[in-house]
Amino acid sequence: MPRLPSLNTQILIGCALGVACGWALQQGVADPAVAASTMYGARIVGNLFLDLLRMVLVPLVFASIVTGVANLRAHESMHRVWVATLTFFFATMAIAIVIGFGAAHLFRPGEGLHLDMFADATRDYQARQMPLPDYIAQFLRGLFQNPFKALAQGEILAIVVIAIFLGIALVAGGERYRNIRTLIEELQELCLRIVGWIMHLAPFGLAALLLQLVAGQNPGLLASLGHFIVVVTGTTLFHGIVVLPAILWIMTGVSPLRFFKGAREALLTAFVTSSSAATLPVTLRCTEQHLHVKKDIANFVVPLGATVNMDGTALYEAAAALFVARLAGIELDLASQFVIFFVAMLGAIGAPGIPSVGMLSMVLVLESVGLPTAAIAILLPIDRILDTTRTAVNVEGDMVGALIVQKIAGKGTGA
Ligand code: ASP
Repeated sequence: MPRLPSLNTQILIGCALGVACGWALQQGVADPAVAASTMYGARIVGNLFLDLLRMVLVPLVFASIVTGVANLRAHESMHRVWVATLTFFFATMAIAIVIGFGAAHLFRPGEGLHLDMFADATRDYQARQMPLPDYIAQFLRGLFQNPFKALAQGEILAIVVIAIFLGIALVAGGERYRNIRTLIEELQELCLRIVGWIMHLAPFGLAALLLQLVAGQNPGLLASLGHFIVVVTGTTLFHGIVVLPAILWIMTGVSPLRFFKGAREALLTAFVTSSSAATLPVTLRCTEQHLHVKKDIANFVVPLGATVNMDGTALYEAAAALFVARLAGIELDLASQFVIFFVAMLGAIGAPGIPSVGMLSMVLVLESVGLPTAAIAILLPIDRILDTTRTAVNVEGDMVGALIVQKIAGKGTGA
């Protein structure tokens, strides 16, 4: 029997085919009936792949964090890991926001365009407004919930919180709870085994999702907002290809090549699905099995990062706020840019890892400095395309974080 190419090669071939077919459909090359049935098939296969990933997501996140926290404490490196993780998350998001601002000032996307040129798009738009205090209150209330409700409804942030409590309680309880700990550890291993099976569908699933993404683009809008799209995508890629790998290399000595080789399955899945949460099973698999981060560190840093650490989203919100200000003909002063800095960080932290959710916190960012929220109507149609790179960079940040935290924690324990 002829040997199949490696999974990575299959995934790359699938992605190339997805883009090519999507482009052909977008150009109207195919007969309408064929196009309709191709889109139908792509929707079914794409959704199936996403649903399979979501199927393991909740038990995997829960079991990963419980075992991660329980084992961290066992190594007496808990404190160091907490501090290193949160410092890394905040520092890299701050760098991303500064880069977003820098690019918006340097390349000035939006210059020559005016909000009234998009009157049709913005006329009927009603922003789902939520003042900042309400947003913070809602975020805090979402943290502590009935665990059964959170698990049943897939509320990842609440699941992370309850899993951290349970992990700590298991350690505090000591040997008495060894069986529960082993049980949850084995549940996590089983979930990762299932992810390995699901990944065999990835070439088809990713092809189907890419086909829909490319076929659904509106070339007219892409052309008029092309400069903004290029600036945001280029800057996000700069953060992902230069800044994060440089930090990783300086802190751990891991070369960018080695990193990207180990991380590519997760990066591609994030790019295509635009969801850090849906990608989480793949991210964990890459971090543990390809990048060789110890289970207890990966199990703690990666799921937490998937909900809290979003460099791509933070960068986007900063750049897009300045873009909208330029469209509206407003020059933002330094104080307003400070406000945007903090609100963009908060928005990125509070955003769950699902497609286009950055748009919700974008409303918050605009409101915080009095920019017209109706401008979201212009950003929304191009968001699907911008969400690809920003989600990939969000996920990359979690894997880089796990490697760096492992290095820092290792120093303390002699590991
Ligand atoms: N789609 C992004 C993610 O899942 C969040 C966003 O919309 O910025 O990481």
